[in-house]
Amino acid sequence: MPRCPECNGYMKYDRRLKVYICTNCGLMLTRDEIEKYRRRNYVEEDEKSEIEEYYEWWIKGNKSP
Ligand SMILES: [Zn+2]
Repeated sequence: MPRCPECNGYMKYDRRLKVYICTNCGLMLTRDEIEKYRRRNYVEEDEKSEIEEYYEWWIKGNKSP
């Protein structure tokens, strides 16, 4: 079951409307949109963690004698 990109709630598929509806906040998304969100979030998280790791390494490297 996909998760809502807005509130991380569970999304239920509505066969009649052919969209996923968040059971928590009511957000409606098509499967394509969910895929788009998932890919974007994945990339963002990936980039962020890499930058944070680099930043931490940089801070440590510069502060230690
Ligand atoms: Zn939601």
